[in-house]
Amino acid sequence: GEAKLHLVNAPSEVKELADTFNMMLYRISESWEQQRQFVSNVSHELRTPLTIVHGYLQSTLRRSNNLTEAQQEALSIAASETDSTIRLLQDLLDLARADSGYIHFHVENMVLNDLVAEVVVMAQQFSSRAIAISTTSYPIKVKADRNRLKQVLINLIDNALKYSEIDESISIKLDKTSDNVTIQVCDKGCGIPLQQQTRIFERFYRVDEARARSTGGAGLGLSIVKTLVEGMDGSVTVLSKLGEGSVFTVTLPTP
Ligand code: ADP
Repeated sequence: GEAKLHLVNAPSEVKELADTFNMMLYRISESWEQQRQFVSNVSHELRTPLTIVHGYLQSTLRRSNNLTEAQQEALSIAASETDSTIRLLQDLLDLARADSGYIHFHVENMVLNDLVAEVVVMAQQFSSRAIAISTTSYPIKVKADRNRLKQVLINLIDNALKYSEIDESISIKLDKTSDNVTIQVCDKGCGIPLQQQTRIFERFYRVDEARARSTGGAGLGLSIVKTLVEGMDGSVTVLSKLGEGSVFTVTLPTP
């Protein structure tokens, strides 16, 4: 009580306090910016040589027909590890850019049904598992950035594939209300415990490290999904039951 009274009666001290406070805020935002810049620079500097290494590994694998089986396997593992590290670096770069507001969204109106069909064809190139699409009989229009929305859906489909078994079905459902469109990516896989469902959108958060380790990934996918969807004025939510499966719902504005 006394200090407060003292401050009220002493405007110069209040001002001094405000100055100190503002200086602290400035220092915090400055060091935050330095950290962001650091992550961004490191990711960028590592990504370039790794991409070159990955290229050499792949061309060696393709062109050499006198490799032993063991050599082939060693090169394949090296190629796949560099590939996942390149992805991780790209994710870090994307997030650092998003933090500084450097992700530009080229928002346009498009037919969602066509885009989803395209994404499923793409997904089918890295997995032979069937992905069912259920949609309305009429075309659904959506306002979004085509490439960013593809990135979002690929991430969600990739998770659906990773966290379910080969014989468990995966489906994508499209729907429309008066103001919004919804895209649901559904799997019948391992599901996510209720207490963790809000945390999975945080950076580097993974449910049950032991379960997750074998599937690769750094726990950045969903935080990127959230950043991108929100950047397009949408939202993403999850409904899941342990042992039964998960439904990720992306909501985006109609044109
Ligand atoms: P990553 O898949 O690289 O670990 P994500 O950010 O994509 O990172 O996902 C965070 C965590 O959320 C995962 O580690 C996993 O435990 C959980 N998760 C995400 N999608 C699913 C899903 N479809 N089914 C079950 N768990 C999931």
